[in-house]
Amino acid sequence: MPVLDELLYRNKQWAANRLRQDPDFFSRLSAQQTPDYLWIGCSDSRVPATEIVGLDPGEMFVHRNIGNVVIHTDFNCLSVMQFAIDVLRVKHIIVCGHYGCGAIRAAMSQLSYGFVDNWLRHIKEIIVKYEAELVPLDEDARLRRLCELNVIEQVKNLGKSKAVQRAWDAGHPLQLHGWIYGIADGIIHDLDIHLHNREQIPSIFHMLGKSDA
Ligand SMILES: [Zn+2]
Repeated sequence: MPVLDELLYRNKQWAANRLRQDPDFFSRLSAQQTPDYLWIGCSDSRVPATEIVGLDPGEMFVHRNIGNVVIHTDFNCLSVMQFAIDVLRVKHIIVCGHYGCGAIRAAMSQLSYGFVDNWLRHIKEIIVKYEAELVPLDEDARLRRLCELNVIEQVKNLGKSKAVQRAWDAGHPLQLHGWIYGIADGIIHDLDIHLHNREQIPSIFHMLGKSDA
């Protein structure tokens, strides 16, 4: 059986199992999605967003990219955020990184990996920002800490965005969180960064104009 046929076969099995457990599952989902969460995570195949937090289809809106970064010129991520906030009215945005992240490891090296170097340079900026904290660490500890710092910086980037600040200004109870997932044990750790109002963001990033960007 060709490889892709195997995947299609597994899909039919999955759908049949779902229906056995819950006959209304697909008809209910097809009506609408009302997720409370937006997940921004790494594309890494070992970090399947919905599965590791035990949620079902329909319960979490998901955006994944290499290194779980929030870049203010990335129309894909910005569009996902705006739709999740304004249309789906999510209550929480979770940036979830993971230990052993290949993107972070690549950003720590001086090797070129091709076009993706343009993406990874945003992580290199974080290395420079936290150089004093990172340099004394051995390589393993430095990688782990940079995986954490990258999440923290991306949560701050969310807070600097117009879409998030506009929601806060409108009184929408939107909270931003930073987590990190351990591939070796399957456990998520809360990095204790929680943003829920403009005052937690440096004032130079307060977006007071009327632009929709
Ligand atoms: Zn990764």
